[in-house]
Amino acid sequence: MSAVDKLLKGYQEYRDGSYELSRPLIENLVAKGQRPEVAVIACSDSRVDPAILFQADPGDLFVIRNVANLVPPMELEGTYHGTSAALEFAILGLNVKHLVVLGHAHCGGIKLMMDPEPYDSSFKFVPSWVSMLAAAHRRVLATMSSAGEEACTRACEQNAVLVSLENLTTFPWVRERVESGALQLHGWYVDIAGPELSGYDWEAGKFTPFS
Ligand SMILES: [Zn+2]
Repeated sequence: MSAVDKLLKGYQEYRDGSYELSRPLIENLVAKGQRPEVAVIACSDSRVDPAILFQADPGDLFVIRNVANLVPPMELEGTYHGTSAALEFAILGLNVKHLVVLGHAHCGGIKLMMDPEPYDSSFKFVPSWVSMLAAAHRRVLATMSSAGEEACTRACEQNAVLVSLENLTTFPWVRERVESGALQLHGWYVDIAGPELSGYDWEAGKFTPFS
């Protein structure tokens, strides 16, 4: 079966199976509009689908995905700000109460940021996108060079979450809502092969596995 045929077969199964089961929920979401309380910023990686990982129902999650689950700092220059537009929609349009930045192990975007050499030299957009992690990468190299490649990679992947959380606060409507308590920011990291989910502990300053 081709990959596309697999998709169409999957859609048929969805239509006849889980759609039928959740029909009342979906009809309600259509009539009243979506009101998700959680927005997730995740990587585009095919192995890290928030809806699957968190067993979410339709209407539960507003999902923003891009290479390496990054939030850029707020910039008004330029015209096409996909991630910032999605964030604006989640915060100002839907009033989500929680924003989760979900990092993950074995991230191709982080790998490219750490060592672009093996990738096609015609890559143009990805290197520039992940360059927002350059300072964090330099810090990891300066402090962890003896820890080995695996530990440095993990540190870069987790730092991508922290940089995104920091950049979130450059958007005034995020900052204001966090300060008033209307919005909570969460930094999570999933090791897809574990599988193990960790959360950033703001007091301890490190990622700790959820029990
Ligand atoms: Zn990734």
